[in-house]
Amino acid sequence: MTQVLHIVGGGMAGSEAAWQAANLGVQVVIHEMRPKVETFAHQTGNLAEMVCSNSFRSDDSEQNAVGLLHWEMRAANGLIMAAAEKHRLPAGGALAVDRDAFAEFVTQEINAHPNISIEYGEVNEIPSEGMWIFATGPLTSPKLGEAIAAETGADRLAFFDAIAPIIYHDSINMDVAWMQSRYDKGETEEEQKAYLNCPMTKDQYEAFIDALLAADKTEFHEGETAGYFDGCLPIEVMAERGRETLRFGPMKPVGLTNANDPENKPYAVVQLRRDNKLGTLYNIVGFQTKMKYGAQAEVFKMIPGLEDAKFARLGGIHRNTFLNSPTLLDDQMRLKSKPNVRFAGQVTGVEGYVESAAMGLLAGRLAAHEILGTPIESPNGTTAMGALIHHITGGAEAKTFQPMNVNFGLFPPVEGLKGGRRGRKDRYRAYTDRAKETFNQWLEGQS
Ligand SMILES: Cc1cc2nc3c(=O)[nH]c(=O)nc-3n(C[C@H](O)[C@H](O)[C@H](O)COP(=O)(O)OP(=O)(O)OC[C@H]3O[C@@H](n4cnc5c(N)ncnc54)[C@H](O)[C@@H]3O)c2cc1C
Repeated sequence: MTQVLHIVGGGMAGSEAAWQAANLGVQVVIHEMRPKVETFAHQTGNLAEMVCSNSFRSDDSEQNAVGLLHWEMRAANGLIMAAAEKHRLPAGGALAVDRDAFAEFVTQEINAHPNISIEYGEVNEIPSEGMWIFATGPLTSPKLGEAIAAETGADRLAFFDAIAPIIYHDSINMDVAWMQSRYDKGETEEEQKAYLNCPMTKDQYEAFIDALLAADKTEFHEGETAGYFDGCLPIEVMAERGRETLRFGPMKPVGLTNANDPENKPYAVVQLRRDNKLGTLYNIVGFQTKMKYGAQAEVFKMIPGLEDAKFARLGGIHRNTFLNSPTLLDDQMRLKSKPNVRFAGQVTGVEGYVESAAMGLLAGRLAAHEILGTPIESPNGTTAMGALIHHITGGAEAKTFQPMNVNFGLFPPVEGLKGGRRGRKDRYRAYTDRAKETFNQWLEGQS
């Protein structure tokens, strides 16, 4: 008899993981705490409940990285995509669903699967034996959170994300911005030029502060703690504390000389830091924010050098339990300290329904093949699933790790294509063509 696979959490990731493993012939037990133990966001006892929006975002698999993830999940016979398709609502190019019918369908399919059973109740320890996947999501129960922190070290588990906007490097105007670390700190030239700097005059700074103060902000959800840590105050809250606060904080102009205009001392400087090993993504240092998405794009494009910025993701601060996956997980999503335990879904530091379900799909297949004695590798980083898993388990900077959406900045560039805005359509098509071919090969390698 083969080993049972235990999956903790029957959300987007856990349901998909169970479906994939069960279809490979592995016996699966899902441990779900709802409806016995509730979270502040879930409303029902259904599996795969969508806690907020009813959208799986873009369904365009040629020009959009999320759409490509849809394609890969469909190719892998994913339950979440099948349920979404069945309960799809008209929404232009997006994949929106009837949320109740969607979650009920997933729950029924899981219940009807001969290889899956569900045990309702909270799990609050990390077992040393057996094969486990923890897919407990952004609202992992506090007791389990304590157990995870005890296993990983408290500094490797976060309870809030504090996301600064992330920008595609090739959309930044380098005639305005320049590379330099404050006081040229660092041993190597790479370290001395680790930051990308955007200068501001006094007038530009004042206009920027006015826009920040006037911008639309989002509130915390009811039940979500509104206390910010002083280390990650939203920039608009810093600006409310005084118009000069940012100039003495993340926007201080000291230790920097504008390489494009050395005679003029900037009044304030916005710094961006590399966000991935590929160097395709940069985050704005210290710019975590609760501004609404539309307002963020407007306000941040006021920063000189970022007028045409293209955002890989916008900023936010949310209740969100997630691991420092780059240091804790191996490329099979296993906890390095306890390889019988995998993590999947949002708790691994991906963000969103689609990304979480995709990481569940992967964890389910990896675990099932390990149980069956036919181990497989994670897909190559040129696929959407591969790009995500490579980012969270190695490509991301561990020190500043924050949850990530799938985006083309995570993909290794296709050589020989035109950069910049004009080449974008061809580039994205090349990424998605390459990904589909590689993903099909990955699937074929398992049969
Ligand atoms: C308030 C809020 C709003 C959000 N809005 C959006 C949005 O609009 N769009 C979007 O794409 N994403 C949104 N997200 C993120 C979204 O929650 C995730 O993308 C997605 O649901 C994560 O899937 P998951 O399977 O990792 O976690 P979940 O879907 O949350 O599933 C985790 C499951 O684990 C269970 N669980 C937790 N702890 C235990 C335990 N100890 N024992 C047993 N079971 C346990 C939970 O009950 C839950 O069913 C939001 C998150 C929050 C908190």
